[in-house]
Amino acid sequence: MDKKRREFLKIVGISTLAGLGAPAVFDRLVSGSHPVQARASATGAQGGAGGQQAAAAGHSQAAAGTGKRYGMVIDVRKFKQYPDLARECVRVCHAVHNVPHFPDRKEEIKWIWQTPYTSAFTEHSHYYRDEDLEQNQVLVLCNHCDNPPCVRVCPTKATFRNEDGIVEMDYHRCIGCRFCMAGCPYGARSFNWRDPRQGLDMNNLNRQFPTRMRGVVEKCNFCVERLGRGQIPACVEATGNTGAMYFGDLNDPDSEIRRVLKENFTIQRKPSLGTLPSVFFII
Ligand code: SF4
Ligand code: SF4
Ligand code: SF4
Repeated sequence: MDKKRREFLKIVGISTLAGLGAPAVFDRLVSGSHPVQARASATGAQGGAGGQQAAAAGHSQAAAGTGKRYGMVIDVRKFKQYPDLARECVRVCHAVHNVPHFPDRKEEIKWIWQTPYTSAFTEHSHYYRDEDLEQNQVLVLCNHCDNPPCVRVCPTKATFRNEDGIVEMDYHRCIGCRFCMAGCPYGARSFNWRDPRQGLDMNNLNRQFPTRMRGVVEKCNFCVERLGRGQIPACVEATGNTGAMYFGDLNDPDSEIRRVLKENFTIQRKPSLGTLPSVFFII
């Protein structure tokens, strides 16, 4: 384990013990209140924090169970070529998953969003960087890490890595302690400070996907409910034939995503932390 990773994992440990989540957990335990009334994740999967023994290196560790490891490739160049595409991906994802919209940034819930290149890739500095690249917004989401610190710090197994390598949420088990938010180095998780239904158009809900409740954490689920129906993730579908996004099994050498990875140079976010993101970017 290199020094940077050791330091990161130490910080996660400290956050867990003394960080923002601890008082919340304590309060919940003392008061006996449980804020979670949301329905279960669409798969109905429970617990099982697989992947905690992730290897310290490499990018193709097989998940426990099926041996699959779902991943994604995002071609940033294509989003520049089609400027409205990223907004459409966000719109579709949030509509399909009943993600509420709150204008106040402090209350914002996001599953997929755009962020400046320099924020997305803090470890990839370029001397005299191309201006276009620097000003480019990058579409980011949960990386469904192969070695996810959010899973490691969750005290209730409300967040867990499923048999296909997808990091899921079981809203029934979430006690709102936010340890996972402190543990995620990508800001990929949002906390429902308010009743999320207040930020939804109740006349246009997707009735096939659960709404959540105040006091639970949520994030991108790699469209696990759609995969179960034989569909691809909604954001990937929204990109059509542009080649802006690819999704598939990273452990299948014959998959399209493996071909794309082989033919293109890709980077991951904050690779030095050893989280082994399953989302790759063509810059
Ligand atoms: S990106 Fe964050 S929330 Fe997603 S699996 Fe990795 S550590 Fe967990
Ligand atoms: S998923 Fe819920 S219970 Fe688990 S760490 Fe996050 S906030 Fe706490
Ligand atoms: S994979 Fe699915 S849940 Fe994740 S950002 Fe794309 S549409 Fe949203």
